[in-house]
Amino acid sequence: MNAAVVLPVPVSRPYIYEVPPELADRVIPGARVVVPLRRRNVVGIVTEVLSPQSSVGVEVKRILAAPDVEPALSQPLIDLGRWMSDYYGAPLGLSLRALLPGPLWSVARPAGPAPAADRLFVLVGNGMDSLLERERRFKRAPKRRVVYEAVEALGGSAPVKHLIEHLRLSRNSLTELVKQGLARIERVPEMRDPFAGLSSAPPPNLTADQQAVLSGITATPVETPVLLHGVTGSGKTLVYLHVLQAVVQTGRGAILLVPEIALTPQTVARVRGVFGDQVAVLHSGLSDGERADAWRALRRGERLVAVGPRSAVFAPVQRLGAIVVDEEHEPSYKQGTAPRYHARDAAAMRAQLEGARLILGSATPSLETLSDDRVVTFALPDRIGARPLPPVEVVDLRSAPRIPAAEAGAIAWSEALDSAISGALERGEQVILLLNRRGFATFVQCPSCGNVPGCPNCAIALTVHQTPPGMRCHYCGHEEPIPDTCIVCGHEIQRWRGLGTQQLEHFVGARYPRARIARMDLDTTTSKWAHHHILERVARGEVDILLGTQMIAKGLDFPNVTVVGVVDADTGLHFPDFRAGERTFQLVAQVAGRAGRGPRGGRVFVQTRAPDHHAIRAAAAHSVSQFAAAELPLRSPPNPPYPPRTGLVRFVIGTEDHARTAELAEKVSSWLRRAATERLDGMLTVLGPAPCPIMRLKGKWRWHVLVKSAEPRVLGRVVRAWRAKSHRAVTVDRDPVSLL
Ligand code: ADP
Ligand code: ZN
Repeated sequence: MNAAVVLPVPVSRPYIYEVPPELADRVIPGARVVVPLRRRNVVGIVTEVLSPQSSVGVEVKRILAAPDVEPALSQPLIDLGRWMSDYYGAPLGLSLRALLPGPLWSVARPAGPAPAADRLFVLVGNGMDSLLERERRFKRAPKRRVVYEAVEALGGSAPVKHLIEHLRLSRNSLTELVKQGLARIERVPEMRDPFAGLSSAPPPNLTADQQAVLSGITATPVETPVLLHGVTGSGKTLVYLHVLQAVVQTGRGAILLVPEIALTPQTVARVRGVFGDQVAVLHSGLSDGERADAWRALRRGERLVAVGPRSAVFAPVQRLGAIVVDEEHEPSYKQGTAPRYHARDAAAMRAQLEGARLILGSATPSLETLSDDRVVTFALPDRIGARPLPPVEVVDLRSAPRIPAAEAGAIAWSEALDSAISGALERGEQVILLLNRRGFATFVQCPSCGNVPGCPNCAIALTVHQTPPGMRCHYCGHEEPIPDTCIVCGHEIQRWRGLGTQQLEHFVGARYPRARIARMDLDTTTSKWAHHHILERVARGEVDILLGTQMIAKGLDFPNVTVVGVVDADTGLHFPDFRAGERTFQLVAQVAGRAGRGPRGGRVFVQTRAPDHHAIRAAAAHSVSQFAAAELPLRSPPNPPYPPRTGLVRFVIGTEDHARTAELAEKVSSWLRRAATERLDGMLTVLGPAPCPIMRLKGKWRWHVLVKSAEPRVLGRVVRAWRAKSHRAVTVDRDPVSLL
């Protein structure tokens, strides 16, 4: 007897293996098997057991092992994998690979390695409060200062290994700081999973509004997708929890998807508060062993609820009754490598395959969801406790009074924001400042010849960093020293342009010297529990000003935050991407929603040079409908249509050679044009080829071709036809979330 086995490699057709008699009862569709492939062994998934008659005529190799008693993948999950493969045009092997966590694909050690001991570098005492003191102490030791401030930004402690290997700080400076008595080294046997103990009791009663929405959802046929459109602070989480509870009470399971688990400890705590040990929290901080354990507990039905980011949509929850997609508008739900699935759409498909209910939730729903007429919307238009949404003041940076340049340097700091922050600090309230650009300065420019040093691998300017110092590429990680003189003309003074979070932190520290500041961006959150430590300090009231990139705009519920400032709302507004306005709207509306969640109320200041842009105006009004009314016509004829008014597929061509890339892009587009006229009856529009806005990335030249059709079927045929041709240098991205 033979079996068809799909291997986790970029091919769609299964491989045929012989089933040894002793494994016959385990080798069934969905089972993991170990099979030989050339000179190594790999894990594969059985998709079909072939009848004894269907001999292939050639000698086939034998399956070596079938490690699980129960098949790893249920039939609906295999079907979901097939759907992803067909819809996104991804090889079936890669689609199925995405369904199981990494450790389960490892032949050598399916349970993963044990966690090792960690040496922790801990700052001592309360730190140095004033900038002056700091300047005095580190006058002759700038490297030590860099270390000190980097660790400070990480929440006061960090693993030694992380500081040296990832941040490339000097080991010497660490030792010196310990000698100076400013820090000490602690040994911890293993970083404790901070999510393990997290639990908070839910509010005892639903409000009348929540109750009404809950009844509405329950009365909706299970196959109808539901959108819970609730303003920030309207209590959406409690509604989800009640829906999930009803599901679990009938012995069924559920999945709660969140954009990024590190940023949503509060949601995790609330889910634990209700479901306790029935929950498996799937987060990126888990070791391979923990991940495999969580997966098995769900697979065996020992845990009924899975909470996690995008990939949790594949959690092996038994008797699935509901999937909730919180913050459904978040771009992080889109997977960046094949299969390039969107977790919201995969969730919809899985819910359909398993007869489960789908609930999408957001304060700023995507235009895709808003324009989907199968979706039934339930609204929570008011905040809990009848708290008003915070008033938003749009500050026009072109004309608003600012604090003088002598004090603020290059930073545009309006008097309105400044006095609001001082007031909040005096009253012991907290402030959130959003600046969606990390680093110190956005780029370096020679004032004499205008040269801007760029990344040698990417068509992108290098960003200036100070902790630790260097110029870095945010796309490929390339690093080089900050130049003192221009490499082109030799001019001696180089100007730093554009504001990043590090500079903002520096400025805010000098401007409000008594404030305790925490910065949260990619640079301060690379270590395992960094997000969590920072947010914990904010929750305990040990931070007065939390500043950072879009990370701080999501889901946070801190009642003592009374002032939110958007330092520069325009950072993403002019990206060459049709969603630039939508992203800006969502970001500003979401961060505004962090203010005024407690009895003291709150205010929001949005600094911009485009105060009349509809994205800014709608965000200031907290109004999704206002935004949609202005944005949808821009994506509809007579303008060139864009999603959700049409379906979109992006073909990205990337090779090391520019001429070859352009040539290949030309070939892809003529293939598409031919298909459009010969076989698809003109139902396909082909745009391009053209260079991508980021024309060079990680050493590859990039061109793209966009394909549009109002008919999903047509796009499906195109991506599947391309899948059959499969070309290494071409990636296919259906429903792309970025066109950069
Ligand atoms: P959203 O996700 O809609 O922004 P949350 O779910 O975070 O809002 O809820 C906002 C706040 O209101 C939270 O602190 C939550 O504990 C509280 N809350 C939610 N529902 C209730 C309720 N029924 N009674 C009292 N407090 C509630
Ligand atoms: Zn680069």
